[in-house]
Amino acid sequence: MKCDTCGKEVKEVRRVVIDADYDRSLSRALYNCPECYAAKESARLKRRSGNDTVSG
Ligand SMILES: [Zn+2]
Repeated sequence: MKCDTCGKEVKEVRRVVIDADYDRSLSRALYNCPECYAAKESARLKRRSGNDTVSG
């Protein structure tokens, strides 16, 4: 399987359903490697909390 985000070939991918935050038509499943999955999850959580200060 291939990661839809970075294109890396991985043994196991996770299905990520894009939130309908943007548009319903964009709400589709993507296959992400664990790294991209974690990055998307943390980005989503940051967007939600919104008030976190991240340095670095
Ligand atoms: Zn990836």
